[in-house]
Parts: sequence; structure tokens; C-alpha cells
Amino acid sequence: MNDCIFCKIINKDIPASIIYEDQEFLVFEDIKPIDKVHLLIIPKIHIESLIACNETNQEMLGKMLLLGGKLANQLGLKGYRTMINSGAEGGQEVFHIHFHVYGGSDTLVKI
Ligand code: 5GP
Ligand code: ZN
Repeated sequence: MNDCIFCKIINKDIPASIIYEDQEFLVFEDIKPIDKVHLLIIPKIHIESLIACNETNQEMLGKMLLLGGKLANQLGLKGYRTMINSGAEGGQEVFHIHFHVYGGSDTLVKI
């Protein structure tokens, strides 16, 4: 049995605030937002992280990045940040690959 929390959200076994869904991707609000808008974009296939990706995932990764920009734009963000934490040492806590897309606050803390 797959114990992945994001797979459970994909299967609607646990609720999430879903912003967008198609055959390949699901986009929902982060449960602990760090900005006014904070989305998580995930592929519906379970891939652990960017570390597990290779050339065969190139198209999927490109689509995710463009989808994030499109949704940020639709939500009225003039600018936004994207973040991919990869591996425990890279700050990843949920091991189903995801893009964070966030923005909307007036003050930007530079990192
Ligand atoms: P990571 O640190 O792995 O890059 O980010 C995982 C993100 O998933 C965190 O920002 C966390 O708030 C979010 N998250 C963890 N569990 C859930 C959940 O059950 N629902 C939603 N919507 N977000 C979650
Ligand atoms: Zn998963």
C-alpha cells in the first residue's frame, strides 16, 4: 500500500483545497502557506523527488513549471517564487515530487 500523503490527496482519500486538476497534474493550496498564495503542484504519478528524475521526466518537469506560472498569473500574482526541495538534506519533507509556487505579499524577504 502506498503511504504517500500526496497520493492520498490525488486519490481524494484526504481533503485538500484543489486549485487545478488534469490527467497529469494536481494543484492544491499548501496547508501551511508561507505567503498569501502558496500552491503545491504535483504529478499524479508517484515520483519521490527531483533526485529520482532523469531525461525521461523532462517533459513532465517542463509542464509543471509552466503550469505554475500560468496559475500564478490567473490568481493575479504579478510575480512569484518557485521552490523545489529535493532530498531530506534539501529540506524535503513529503517524498512525492512537488513544486512550491508562492507570492502575493507586499514585502519580499530576499533569500
Ligand atoms: P517540502 O518541505 O517537502 O518541500 O514541502 C512539503 C509541503 O507540503 C509543506 O509546505 C507542507 O506544509 C505541505 N503539506 C504537508 N502535508 C500536507 C497536507 O496534508 N495537505 C497540504 N495541503 N499540504 C501539506
Ligand atoms: Zn505519492
